[in-house]
Amino acid sequence: MNAPDPKSYQARPDLLAGRVILVTGAGDGIGRAAATSFAAHGGQVVLLGRTTSRLESLYQEICAAGHPEPGIAVLDLARAQGPAYFDLERQIRERYGRLDGLLHNAGILGDRAPLEQYDVGTWTQVLHVNLTAPFVLTQVLLPLLRASADASVLFTSSSVGRRGKAYWGAYAVSKFGLEGLSQVLAEETQGTTRIRVNCLNPGPTRTRMRRRAYPGELPESRPEPAAILAPYLYLMGPDSAGITGQSLDCQ
Ligand code: NDP
Repeated sequence: MNAPDPKSYQARPDLLAGRVILVTGAGDGIGRAAATSFAAHGGQVVLLGRTTSRLESLYQEICAAGHPEPGIAVLDLARAQGPAYFDLERQIRERYGRLDGLLHNAGILGDRAPLEQYDVGTWTQVLHVNLTAPFVLTQVLLPLLRASADASVLFTSSSVGRRGKAYWGAYAVSKFGLEGLSQVLAEETQGTTRIRVNCLNPGPTRTRMRRRAYPGELPESRPEPAAILAPYLYLMGPDSAGITGQSLDCQ
């Protein structure tokens, strides 16, 4: 059978049944839509974010829809230190014993400014939230991913993470870094573990971040997060077994 086109992939209703999947930045935008869709396909999602009220409202939505009860992990990736990461690892281990999916989605835009004027503090913060935090989270959770029969790690890239663009500063550099992190981890896990590692570029999507980056754009001209999720489901589920080290587009 030919591999499906990830953009037009049609997920069966129980695609993620029994899978435990952590989604970062789950409170809003693409992360919220992805977590909702994973749960709707049977996944047991762990909702990670920094704003408790957003996570709680999503928790209620998912429960009200009759999907598997999610977990909530309040963690500010800009501030969290080692113990908070290990605490998260312990909670997942005690509740589920393993992790089958890890979607690194949380991200911040930083400034849109030329490098000559780019604020160094903002640079450090963007690199930390967008790149260092996903590295640390992955490192801490690798033993739980190893305990899965089929684990999928997804990093969220961007078109400016593949071809640098003026004024995208630390955001672009952080996404280049994520593409590299994904490739390195994919090689390190290939052949010796059952973990696969890939990057996804959502493409222009109607979210808060998009509105901040393009204030003059008509929001309706871009798809809603729920409309771009086919590749997320494809890479998170068993139909993409064997695919690792790739960087795919959602649009
Ligand atoms: P949003 O700004 O709409 O949502 C980002 C989410 O990340 C929010 O839930 C936010 O939490 C969370 N987050 C931000 N900082 C932290 C932190 N320090 N700790 C924990 N959580 C945090 O962004 P999008 O949905 O648009 O973007 C999602 C991903 O997709 C990002 O990685 C982005 O770079 C990427 N992307 C988006 C594109 C688009 O057009 N939208 C295009 C290409 C890539 P809170 O709710 O508390 O603010």
